[in-house]
Amino acid sequence: MDSGLYVVATAIGNFGDMSQRAIEVLQNADLIAAEDTRHSQRLLQFFAIDTPIMAYHDHSDDRALQRIDRCLAEGGRVALVSDAGTPLISDPGYRLVRHVQDSGFAVYPLPGPCAAIAALSVSGLPTDRFLFEGFLPAREGARGNRLAALAAEPMTLIFYEAPHRVDASLQAMVAAFGGDREAVLARELTKTFETIKRGPLSELAQFVSEDNNQQKGEIVLIVAGQPKVEQDIDAQVSALLQRLAQELPAKKAAAVVADWSGLRKKQLYEHLLALKQE
Ligand code: SAM
Repeated sequence: MDSGLYVVATAIGNFGDMSQRAIEVLQNADLIAAEDTRHSQRLLQFFAIDTPIMAYHDHSDDRALQRIDRCLAEGGRVALVSDAGTPLISDPGYRLVRHVQDSGFAVYPLPGPCAAIAALSVSGLPTDRFLFEGFLPAREGARGNRLAALAAEPMTLIFYEAPHRVDASLQAMVAAFGGDREAVLARELTKTFETIKRGPLSELAQFVSEDNNQQKGEIVLIVAGQPKVEQDIDAQVSALLQRLAQELPAKKAAAVVADWSGLRKKQLYEHLLALKQE
């Protein structure tokens, strides 16, 4: 193993999800910097790893950074872990990664579990473009403002949520996005009570508020982006489209008018076909 900082993803519940390489790096590192040493000890004991461990989070004092710096300066290997999943994703490590890079040492990723990606992968919602929002503000007003700012966002939205706030957050999402917007509750992923439920926001909000068990454990909420509203094709655009279709193949004509008008090519093409059939 080369000298440097290894950013190691760990399990989000099921230790079986630890990669072979992650285990080897934790075993062979000179020092493990952990968000919470007691929490990480459970994982280390499970894999019989006895590497020295120290606490590190983004508000750690300079002594913690100095210990890591010393280890790297002596040619050592430091592994960074958080309580679960990928460090830096709503977890500590940002300050450390920048500091280590700026000090001229190498930083290596050890990819693995991440609750946001695990939830997205089974959400059944579009995955081509998504926006990771992390945790919403805890206060009602700030949360409402944040959600209002996201209401017109077309990308799939991913939120982390605390169990005691999931009920209130779902109600706030119904208010901001409308009860019909599709969403997914992904709870306790990879664990015994894993629950993945997709439905309109109003149904999910009711499901959670009526069952206290759904307000326990670890939760990711995923909300579909705002659906595209199909604009009407006005008479002027229709006339231009038909005139162009006399000179060009229908698909080309639709593409040119789509570029010019901002309307969807498929909608324009289907409009042409419908006119032909009249
Ligand atoms: N770094 C972690 C990652 O890569 O997913 C996230 C850390 S963040 C402090 C913790 C939040 O992640 C939880 O409050 C929950 O929203 C989400 N989370 C973590 N484990 C989860 C699981 N097994 N199922 C569902 N959500 C989970």
